[in-house]
Amino acid sequence: MKVAVIGCTHAGTAAVKSIAMQHPEAQITVYERNDNISFLSCGIALHVGGVVKDAGGLFYSNPEELAGLGAVTRMRHEVLAVDTNAKTLNVRNLVTGEEFTDSYDKLVVTTGSWPVIPKMEGIDLDNVQLCKNYAHAQEIVARAADAERITVIGAGYIGIELVEAFRELGKQVTLIDNMDRVMAKYLDRDLTDLAEQTLKDRGVQLALGRMVEGFRGSEGKVREVVTTEGTFEADMVVLCIGFRPGTDLLKGQVDMLPNGAIIVDDYMRTSNPDVLAAGDSCAVRYNPTGTAMYIPLATNAVRMGTLAGMNLVQPTVRYQGTQGTSAIRLFDWNIASTGMTEAAALAAGLNVKTVTIHENNRPEFMPTYDDVMLKLVFEAAGGRIVGAQVMSKADMTQAANTLSVCIQNRMTVQELAFVDFFFQPHYNKPWNVLNTAGLAAMEEMKKEQTAPEAAVQTKLAV
Ligand SMILES: Cc1cc2nc3c(=O)[nH]c(=O)nc-3n(C[C@H](O)[C@H](O)[C@H](O)COP(=O)(O)OP(=O)(O)OC[C@H]3O[C@@H](n4cnc5c(N)ncnc54)[C@H](O)[C@@H]3O)c2cc1C
Repeated sequence: MKVAVIGCTHAGTAAVKSIAMQHPEAQITVYERNDNISFLSCGIALHVGGVVKDAGGLFYSNPEELAGLGAVTRMRHEVLAVDTNAKTLNVRNLVTGEEFTDSYDKLVVTTGSWPVIPKMEGIDLDNVQLCKNYAHAQEIVARAADAERITVIGAGYIGIELVEAFRELGKQVTLIDNMDRVMAKYLDRDLTDLAEQTLKDRGVQLALGRMVEGFRGSEGKVREVVTTEGTFEADMVVLCIGFRPGTDLLKGQVDMLPNGAIIVDDYMRTSNPDVLAAGDSCAVRYNPTGTAMYIPLATNAVRMGTLAGMNLVQPTVRYQGTQGTSAIRLFDWNIASTGMTEAAALAAGLNVKTVTIHENNRPEFMPTYDDVMLKLVFEAAGGRIVGAQVMSKADMTQAANTLSVCIQNRMTVQELAFVDFFFQPHYNKPWNVLNTAGLAAMEEMKKEQTAPEAAVQTKLAV
């Protein structure tokens, strides 16, 4: 069985390892246009800020490791076209320029995503940077060295992490977003208010609620960012406004969402039975709504890549969908979220209620303890949990993972209130903060009002 894999970052690397393990007889050929595989983009901001000194540590595999598993990795090879009827690939060796055709019995598409690059004046100026891969990381580090004023466009997790890194380097930093809040996709206003105050306290200039219209430069280099509300001087700009699936190769050949994300079933099979796909090139099943959505995350990529290997020949292990669970450290805050925000749930037409509790992470008799802010979003009828957010100076991020399991298993706030969690004063209270949130949500459900203003601040004593 000839297996071709296109793209070898997280989904591709996971797929190759899984195929090699499940199907030792397979002849695996991997095509990767880059000169590296398995780069952890999540380490870019840590490298930029100097926390991770050696970017070489941000790779966890290499062609030699894959060769040891029996896979041939063709680096600096770009797949130019795929014919799913003929089961062939056209490939260019980017070093020699040579082009050739290869064939496959099974194709695994792990071509991932690429940053959204808006068409606007000045976009090609020097020092307008992207942030996706190893080469981008190197460029950002090199150019930031000579930049005093840095503007980050996009206040999602990636933009926020870079903003912190640049402040740690002592740069003058401006953060621009068209939304009127930071991290609006992941957190509701109660939490983003705190995050914004922290950013301001740390000297970040926030320019929210305005659109970037273009860039002005001199001598080919960016000097100003022009927005609908004012112009900002900048020696360097990093675009962090989102990602698009890189799926042009398969256009018209397999089913896709309107944005080009490949639709796969629970076994990573596309609408063509011999083509599987995984990672950022795909849509995922979003459990809070049960619909296919585009949620590009490394977590989804490694799971889906592994499943593509397991299900290559026949459906064997099902994908369980995702809650889009994610976390970020913002200066001294630990923040995590899972499932839908209140704003997203309301926008999707769900009838939800919320509670936001403040609770100390440990009993007050302990020498130290920290406030934990935890928000639950749940259906007004029945109490099914659809989302949660947690923010604390203590690391309470694992609460989002626990709540992710609750959402996936369609648990209710009543069940959360009384589920068994341990108690040990070093770590929590007799009522775990999650139980406390469940109890508060039960109280909230008794109330008539379902308006967002009905969200309560509850403090339960131990
Ligand atoms: C700065 C940053 C921080 C992030 N932080 C996190 C985080 O903390 N947690 C998290 O879960 N996710 C994070 N992500 C998201 C995560 O990096 C992506 O979800 C993940 O990289 C997706 O992996 P993938 O293999 O599906 O796709 P990609 O990483 O996009 O890789 C696709 C690969 O395919 C190759 N390719 C594409 N087309 C072709 C072709 N025609 N021929 C040959 N090769 C091709 C590309 O060169 C690339 O190597 C972050 C992303 C960024 C950019």
